[in-house]
Amino acid sequence: MGENRAYDWIEKSLATIEKAGWYRSVKTIDSAPGAVIDLEGESLINFASNDYLGLAGDERLIQAATEAIHEYGTGSTGSRLLSGHRPLHRDLERAIAQLKQTEDALVFSSGYLANLGSITALVGGRDLILADQYNHSSLKKGATLTGGNVINYNHCDVADLEEKLSCNRACYRRCLILTDSVFSMDGDLCPLPDILDLAETYQAMVLIDEAHATGVMGSHGAGCVEHFGCRDRALIQMGTLSKALGSLGGYIAGSSTLIDFLRNRAPSWIYTTGLSPGDTAAALEAINIIRQEPQRRQQLWDNIGFLKQALADYSLLPSESPILCLGLDNPHQALQLSQHLQAHGIFAPAVRPPTVPFSRIRFSVMATHQQQHLQQAVEAIRTQKSITNMKSIN
Ligand SMILES: *Cc1c(COP(=O)(O)O)cnc(C)c1O
Repeated sequence: MGENRAYDWIEKSLATIEKAGWYRSVKTIDSAPGAVIDLEGESLINFASNDYLGLAGDERLIQAATEAIHEYGTGSTGSRLLSGHRPLHRDLERAIAQLKQTEDALVFSSGYLANLGSITALVGGRDLILADQYNHSSLKKGATLTGGNVINYNHCDVADLEEKLSCNRACYRRCLILTDSVFSMDGDLCPLPDILDLAETYQAMVLIDEAHATGVMGSHGAGCVEHFGCRDRALIQMGTLSKALGSLGGYIAGSSTLIDFLRNRAPSWIYTTGLSPGDTAAALEAINIIRQEPQRRQQLWDNIGFLKQALADYSLLPSESPILCLGLDNPHQALQLSQHLQAHGIFAPAVRPPTVPFSRIRFSVMATHQQQHLQQAVEAIRTQKSITNMKSIN
């Protein structure tokens, strides 16, 4: 038998990734989620989690999930269309629609799948997509999968979006504007009211990704759409159950016509197994808690305010969310600072190209961070000499 060398390229490709300094590996956390975690034998204050409200380790979510597993089992056993769903699935969708004040909602098995499925259902090869250049991977991949013409506009640049709409819109059947609401690697917000105005003028649909905003932004935690007072405008809201809601899964919220259409046309919903009963029940409980305990969100914003103030002298990227980034000159500096922080008890990852255009340390603030946790992070940053002169970066 001959030798099959068809796989050799994988090793070479991996070596190239390593040489470029882009190689990444996973760290093991040996504790429950929370403000303090056990990372490979070290106890660290956690600034690397999307669990903004501290719900992923909450006893009430654990209990809701456990009860659902006892009643309905661990698996959903098949696609909801083919195998049926549990009452919990619709309960969760109604709770999301109520939080978002939309007619209906549809729960997917992850946020990534919600974006892939809805974008490919809404847009085809004859259509136009306009996308913020810093959009999340799931929006970018979803756009590519449609086979339509995808044009990126400059980050949060309404004038650039308008120019691209005016030059291109008329040549296409449908048009979809795609944007993160809170940008996941920067922490700034999209200019939603302006985007919606342009969408009206140019007869375009808008899909906004509220992954980092759900439970966090807006006076009821409904997201940036609430924050900007745009709940009455026509748009498609996507979000995840796996960040502030402490569970797993994603959703689309919008008109009942839209949701009914997606149930019939979104391949990543139709051809995948329904969300597990445990995850579904945990997310439902999280929405109840978000409704009943606005003080959690208030604590989160107090913590964000404190950290922003304490780091005002450093090169913080503009942010209006729990995501605070310290900009650095190069990947090497970012890695060095991340290691320095870890040596001082702080877990905050370096984010480097190609994920982002320039290197940074990314802090995710949680409602369950205590004052002493935030203080310790500030002290650790202050003791790293090489970044005290980083103010000039912005
Ligand atoms: C995390 C994230 C997603 C994906 O959500 P999952 O539920 O983790 O698959 C989509 N969009 C944005 C902006 C995200 O940050």
